[in-house]
Amino acid sequence: MTLIQNFLSIRQSLPGEVKLIVVSKFKPGDSVRELVENTRHLDFAESRVQELLQKAPLLPEAIRWHFIGHLQTNKIRSLIPFTKLIQSVDSFRLLKEINREAERQGKVVGVLLQFHIASEETKYGFSFEESCQMLESDEFKGLSNIDIKGVMGMASFTENFQQVRKEFKSLRSHYEYLKTNYFKESETFSEVSMGMSGDYKIAVEEGSTMVRVGSLIFGER
Ligand SMILES: *Cc1c(COP(=O)(O)O)cnc(C)c1O
Repeated sequence: MTLIQNFLSIRQSLPGEVKLIVVSKFKPGDSVRELVENTRHLDFAESRVQELLQKAPLLPEAIRWHFIGHLQTNKIRSLIPFTKLIQSVDSFRLLKEINREAERQGKVVGVLLQFHIASEETKYGFSFEESCQMLESDEFKGLSNIDIKGVMGMASFTENFQQVRKEFKSLRSHYEYLKTNYFKESETFSEVSMGMSGDYKIAVEEGSTMVRVGSLIFGER
């Protein structure tokens, strides 16, 4: 199957309201261009700032770039002008740095809070408890240049789909908890970004609003 057929078959398998974010990391800009020109799809994601900064200026400006990798504070400044949504905010410290830089650039930056839901130690993210502590702190309430639009998480890399389902369920339920307790007034806190090539169907069944799919579209990296 071609790139475009892969994309279309995944798009068609998703409920209409679920957003598809095409993960283009390690893939050439020409493939992104081919998809944009043939399908008008505009949501893409990268996991390294360097790679995003190389690709974005050569591709249509209408593309909405999502950032999904671990973000170092010294890269925030250069990332902000090129990204629509930083999905991988994994610490309070990082959130504060993003706010500070956004303020400096006169912007409000959209972000998702990334949660550690997998059993592997290697994945980044808040614990549920840490996020509540942060949201209750006075320091958090002073941050006015970030717009928290929801949550993101990656399930364990395992064939045990019961476990994957359990992890997605826990993220969806923590999202509901946060919405009720901390974001009642927010009109933008509405996204649950979960599901990748190997598990996006389970994620959608468990209430994902946004899936991030790379290798099923572009082939293995
Ligand atoms: C690479 C990556 C994806 C996409 O992974 P595939 O298995 O290729 O679909 C999704 N989310 C994050 C955070 C990633 O780093």
